[in-house]
Amino acid sequence: MTDRRNFLKLGTGITLTAMSGFPIFTTAAEKIKNKENRLVEPTRKIPIVHECDVIVCGGGPAGIAAAISAARQGASTTLIEMYGCLGGVWTTGLLSNIIDFRDKPGIMKELVFRLETNDAQYSAKVYDAELMKYTLDDMCVESGVNIRLHTRIVAAYKNSENKLEHIVTESFSGREAWKAKVFIDTTGNGDLSAYAGCGFDYGHFKSGQTQPMSLMAILTGLEEEELVAQGFMASKGATTEISKRKFYNEIQKGGVSASYTMPTMFAIRPGMIAMMANHQYEVSALSAEQISRATIEARKEVTQIVNGLRSLGGVWKDVRIVTTGAQIGIREGRRIRGHYTLTSEDLIKGARFSDAVCRVNFTVDVHSLKKNAGGGYGSHGIKAKPYDIPIRSLIAKDVNGLMMAGRCISGDFFAHASYRVTGNAVAMGEAAGMVAAKAAFEKKLPQEIEYTGNME
Ligand SMILES: Cc1cc2nc3c(=O)[nH]c(=O)nc-3n(C[C@H](O)[C@H](O)[C@H](O)COP(=O)(O)OP(=O)(O)OC[C@H]3O[C@@H](n4cnc5c(N)ncnc54)[C@H](O)[C@@H]3O)c2cc1C
Repeated sequence: MTDRRNFLKLGTGITLTAMSGFPIFTTAAEKIKNKENRLVEPTRKIPIVHECDVIVCGGGPAGIAAAISAARQGASTTLIEMYGCLGGVWTTGLLSNIIDFRDKPGIMKELVFRLETNDAQYSAKVYDAELMKYTLDDMCVESGVNIRLHTRIVAAYKNSENKLEHIVTESFSGREAWKAKVFIDTTGNGDLSAYAGCGFDYGHFKSGQTQPMSLMAILTGLEEEELVAQGFMASKGATTEISKRKFYNEIQKGGVSASYTMPTMFAIRPGMIAMMANHQYEVSALSAEQISRATIEARKEVTQIVNGLRSLGGVWKDVRIVTTGAQIGIREGRRIRGHYTLTSEDLIKGARFSDAVCRVNFTVDVHSLKKNAGGGYGSHGIKAKPYDIPIRSLIAKDVNGLMMAGRCISGDFFAHASYRVTGNAVAMGEAAGMVAAKAAFEKKLPQEIEYTGNME
């Protein structure tokens, strides 16, 4: 016998907000009215496979921290990730470099310690992506997080009080529904919030353009000491503008004009180097088609760069690509509207908030928005002082029971270009997990939880 209560019934009568990138039919009437070339899926019942206090959607730097934090508060917590490992840009993106982590206490500090213990940390901020995966698995499992990999969030449903109640996923197990008291969107692009019907901002406030994407590669056959001696890298793990320029010129000597004019190498360990050398311009983070094209173009360019370098001989004679990222690095997606929107004015004045989640020390870092705009990065004249992120920027304005952490929080184009780095994403996740757990225990909404900040 099938238990009727354990099915989420979808279809006629459920009202959703159709968001950009997520064309959704809302009611039977709309289906009939719509004359476009579309397939109308029949109503179906989906098993509700799991119910818990907190569901965290997306297992990147923000997501792992949110899940660990909520679980350590005692909340039953599930973390759902679409790839086969945790870490997001850290691992599927092969980033290999953590920025703005030094003054971050809690999970960020613990993670650095665990990376060191696991021999994953080469210099203070450079890590081995494979051992990062293992370290994150360990931390989440030890904290009691229920981890679901290979599972993509594809829909979200609210109750009559505008509170997010269920999400729907697709995976090897087919289509499944999940229920929680509080949800945290750590998908980077803000997928969950968009499915739930939240308003969001996207791109530059005038042009709508977003920062370019980059495909990271891990290289072998290079000796760090030689690269440093010849000025292509500054010293252990470090980079400077001079070393980047020198590396760019060297790539040109190899016959390729790199699309990123400040290409960077990080030494991960002896004989193993991470390289970021391309920019894919004007690619929408909300278009699978554009991202596919960008990935193929990026892989071609990275391969040409490395082949060109090898042809130069010398320090490059044995250089080879070990692997490129499973996911091209997406710098910018939706910025979900929250109870407070961080702005460039907050950065300029070094804003302080009583409900601060963390203090951001990183500058405004906008990579060229167009191919003909220099190909590097800059601050667009904005001088940021260290500033706080308030918890209100992590609480969705349009939908109840929903928080965000990481790069999809509420902020303007320039604020995002600063707080997006991973030291801050972890701190945001930790705070969101704490508030979400409390909200679940106290049967309140996240905005009703008293949060007095996390500044030491
Ligand atoms: C090329 C590049 C270079 C960068 N350089 C640096 C640097 O040197 N140092 C630094 O600290 N930061 C850097 N950043 C910024 C930083 O990596 C990101 O801003 C940061 O990873 C944001 O963390 P996040 O957890 O919000 O998102 P992400 O790391 O993007 O993680 C999101 C996670 O959600 C998952 N997900 C997405 N959609 C779904 C879905 N629908 N269902 C299930 N799971 C989903 C993804 O697979 C991913 O695991 C860089 C970013 C890029 C792209």
